[in-house]
Amino acid sequence: MTSITLHNTKTRKKEALVPIKPGEVSMYVCGPTVYDRAHIGNARPVIVFDTLFRLLRHVYGADRVSYVRNFTDVDDKINARAAETGQSIREITDGTIALYLEDMDAVGALHPTHMPRATEYIQPMVDMTADLIEKGHAYEAEGHVLFAVESYADYGKFSGRSLDDMIAGSRVEVAPYKRNPMDFVLWKPSDADTPGWASPWGKGRPGWHIECSAMAHELLGESFDIHGGGNDLMFPHHENEIAQSKCAGHDFANIWMHNEMLQVEGKKMSKSLGNFFTVRDLLDQGVPGEVIRFVMLSTHYRKPMDWTEKKAKEAKQTLETWTLLTKDVEPSENLDAEFVSALANDLNTAGAISEMHKMKTEMRFADLKAAVSFLALTYQLDSIAEEVFDWIVDGLDVEPKIKKLILEMSEARVAKNYAKSDSIRDAFNAANLSVQFDADGGVTYKREEGFDPSKLEGLI
Ligand code: AMP
Ligand code: ZN
Repeated sequence: MTSITLHNTKTRKKEALVPIKPGEVSMYVCGPTVYDRAHIGNARPVIVFDTLFRLLRHVYGADRVSYVRNFTDVDDKINARAAETGQSIREITDGTIALYLEDMDAVGALHPTHMPRATEYIQPMVDMTADLIEKGHAYEAEGHVLFAVESYADYGKFSGRSLDDMIAGSRVEVAPYKRNPMDFVLWKPSDADTPGWASPWGKGRPGWHIECSAMAHELLGESFDIHGGGNDLMFPHHENEIAQSKCAGHDFANIWMHNEMLQVEGKKMSKSLGNFFTVRDLLDQGVPGEVIRFVMLSTHYRKPMDWTEKKAKEAKQTLETWTLLTKDVEPSENLDAEFVSALANDLNTAGAISEMHKMKTEMRFADLKAAVSFLALTYQLDSIAEEVFDWIVDGLDVEPKIKKLILEMSEARVAKNYAKSDSIRDAFNAANLSVQFDADGGVTYKREEGFDPSKLEGLI
C-alpha cells in the first residue's frame, strides 16, 4: 500500500499517516460560513482537501474514507445579512449552500461524505458545553458560557503563542464578565430578533469554535486522523477547538493540515483594492473550473499562492494540449507510480503536475490521461482554441519538435554547417512551413497552406 506522509502543524514535522482504525481514514475540514458566495480564496482549501480525499480513496478504497466538511449556518454575519436584506436566515443559508455546492462542483470537488449544518447539531454543542462547565473548564457569566483558557495548561501551544503575550497583545475591549481576556464564548444569549435555542443558560446560540468540536465528535468519534483548514484558522479557531475537545476528554485530531493563503496578482485580496472576486465571477468570465483547479494545484498547499491572469492563461493552454493529445487514447489502468508518490509526499501537487509534463514529453499519453482524470482536470473539447488544435497532428503536438528543429538549424548556421541547415530548410519548405530569422536574433514561423508535418518525419 502507498505510504502517505503529511506535514503536521501540531508537530511542525512531516509524518507518516497511520490511521487510528487500520485501513480507514477520517478527516474533518472547517467549511464556510454561509451568507455570501465563495471567493476564490475559499476555493483553495476545498480543492486541496478534495485532492487529498481523492488520494485517500485511491489508497484506502472509496468506502473507507470519511470526510466531514461543515456549514456554519449560525453566525452574526448571517444575522446581519438577514437584517440588511430582509430575507429570512433560512433563505440566506439554504440559498448560499446551494450556490456554494454549485461553484465547488464546477471546480471538480467531490461532495464530502458528510456536510453537517451547525444548526442540526445544537444539542451536542449544549451537551459539550455543559460537560466543560462540570469539569471546571468553563463558567457561566451574564447569560454567556465562557471557556476558561487558564484551565488548559497547553493553551497557545498549538499555534505557538504564550497566554501572557496574547493578553498583553489583546487590544480589543474585553467584556467585563470574562475572568481572563482570552476566555472565549461557548454559548451566548439571543434576544427576540436573533436565532436562539433553549439551554440550561437560557435562550441562546453557540459560539463558532464549539461547533467543529461537537460535530467532529458526533460524526467521527473521540479521535480522528486528519483535521484541515486554511492557516488563518490556526488561531484562534483551531487552538480553541483543541482546548475544548481535549478538556472534554476527547483525543481529537492526530494530524493537522493548513493551506497557505491565496493572493491575487501579488496582493492580499480585498474589496478595497478591487482585486476581490468570487469563483462564480471567474466562471462567468469563461474561465473553466478545470483551469481554476489546475492553477490552484500548481502551487504546493503550504506555500502562499498567487492567482494571476497569466497563470490562468498558461493553465488553459496546458489543459487544451493535454486534452487533445489524449483525445483518442484509453487511459492506463494504473496510475503512474512517480505521479502517485509525488501526491503521497505531503500532497505535492506541483510535483505531480511536473510528472504529467514529463508524461507528455515522453509521449506516455495513456498515463497522462489517467493522471488528468484522477486530478479531475478533464477538459471539455469544444472550448479548445483553434491555434492549439492546428499544431496537433495525429495526436502528436508537433510544435515542440519544430522548435527543436529550428534551434538545430540555427546552431548549424552558426557552426557554418550549411549542409545541415540547408537540409532542414528544405524539409521546412517541403512541409510548407515558413521560417524567418530576424535581424535581432528572433525567429518567426508560420504554417502556410498545405502545411504537412509528415514531410519533417525523417528529421523529427
Ligand atoms: P470562511 O468562510 O471565511 O471561514 O473561510 C472558509 C475557508 O476558506 C477557511 O478554511 C479559510 O481558511 C479559507 N480561506 C479564506 N480566505 C482564504 C484565502 N485568501 N486563501 C486561502 N484560503 C482562504
Ligand atoms: Zn472548525
